[in-house]
Amino acid sequence: MERILGKTKDEWIQAFPLIEKLILTEEVFWSNPKYQDFERAIQHVSLGIKDVRDAEERLKRFSPYLARAFPETKEMNGIIESPLKEIPVMQSSLENYFSKKIEGKMLLKCDSHLPISGSIKARGGIYEVLKHAEDLAIENKLLSTEEDYSKLDNDTYRKFFSNYSIVVGSTGNLGLSIGIISAKLGFNVTVHMSADAKKWKKDLLRSKGVSVIEHELDYSVAVEQGREQSQKDPNSYFIDDENSTHLFLGYAVAASRLQKQLEAQDIIIDEEHPLFVYLPCGVGGGPGGVAFGLKLIFKDHVHCFFAEPTHSPCMLLGLLTEQHDKISVQDVDIDNKTAADGLAVGRPSGFVGKTLERLISGVYTVEDDQLFAYLSMLAQTEDMYLEPSALAGIAGPTRLFTELEGRTYIDKNQVTDKMKRAVHISWATGGSMVPKEIMDEYMERGLKVMNE
Ligand SMILES: *Cc1c(COP(=O)(O)O)cnc(C)c1O
Repeated sequence: MERILGKTKDEWIQAFPLIEKLILTEEVFWSNPKYQDFERAIQHVSLGIKDVRDAEERLKRFSPYLARAFPETKEMNGIIESPLKEIPVMQSSLENYFSKKIEGKMLLKCDSHLPISGSIKARGGIYEVLKHAEDLAIENKLLSTEEDYSKLDNDTYRKFFSNYSIVVGSTGNLGLSIGIISAKLGFNVTVHMSADAKKWKKDLLRSKGVSVIEHELDYSVAVEQGREQSQKDPNSYFIDDENSTHLFLGYAVAASRLQKQLEAQDIIIDEEHPLFVYLPCGVGGGPGGVAFGLKLIFKDHVHCFFAEPTHSPCMLLGLLTEQHDKISVQDVDIDNKTAADGLAVGRPSGFVGKTLERLISGVYTVEDDQLFAYLSMLAQTEDMYLEPSALAGIAGPTRLFTELEGRTYIDKNQVTDKMKRAVHISWATGGSMVPKEIMDEYMERGLKVMNE
């Protein structure tokens, strides 16, 4: 009998009956029994607000460079940020479709429309490359933090950076972010893509001068190969999607920006106005970093839920069993095959799981067909076009109110009578770069699901 970390599959199911539903790829909603009040939970975390501020300052230093190198960021003065939009028509469509009232107000955080690479990866991915570039330039006495960084947009610097390489393994979007920014700065950049990465993403990268290496296996293999290639070369820097604190902090900066957007829209978050945020999760860095930043600011007033495809519930499996990166969905015979390519990850980040194990409110899973239904519904109601992965967060508010574990969570956290004033933010993690003909196929599949 094959064993997984000393137990048979049946013994794992016996210890955690939810695993049986995960194996059947049924949609589930799990509320985290280890969730704790912020002040207690944060005692277990070594990163803090100072680290996030440091990342925020670094991004500010780079803003003159970004404004110059990427004209689409000029209007925002080189700050890579996305709109926060109310989606009332979508909200009532969801209420009708599922015959369930969503108490409170739904908003969409449109990272799908972040400049430069059109996904949440434009936060962490770009941040880590900028940090590395800054470190190299400062070490070599070519830059000081007091200077205007727009000087980096120059052949002298591109020639300097061309002595160094950057390597990353990706299901697609991280490769896009890292590839585009690294190539622009002048680095040699190689992206190891997993089998599920979309062809258009590989083509786009090659057109920007990025080396793309294709792997027949999944994301974890692409990452491993990238890591090995990078270790052979002392001038090579590997961006470690599974363990990087820099990526994580780059994502976390989203929180203070969101706080300002909420204030500008007169949306209050406090004891009487709870905030619920629903984040699509792959390896965990993106949603983890954003959730961490939000908890530092809104503390117990924010409730963060992660969303995964039914075929790739890696973070849920890791948190549930407390085995984090030691267990993969394939270990329990889940195939990790999903159309949500950004979320097609079988083994979660151990760093993210352990950092957030007391801060995440819960995790739910969504069927691929449902992602497409949401995709076409959002397009028809709000004229917003997202990629399938990005729709996982849209399911959140409905699921919170329809699922027993969701309603129990509301009661247990004593927000039942506050829900009519709640704010629900679905994090739309990507989509604006999807070519039109592919988006048309997505729409078609979504409409088919809805008409069945
Ligand atoms: C990468 C990605 C995510 C999830 O981020 P992780 O850091 O892998 O958890 C969600 N949505 C989209 C579109 C992505 O590309």
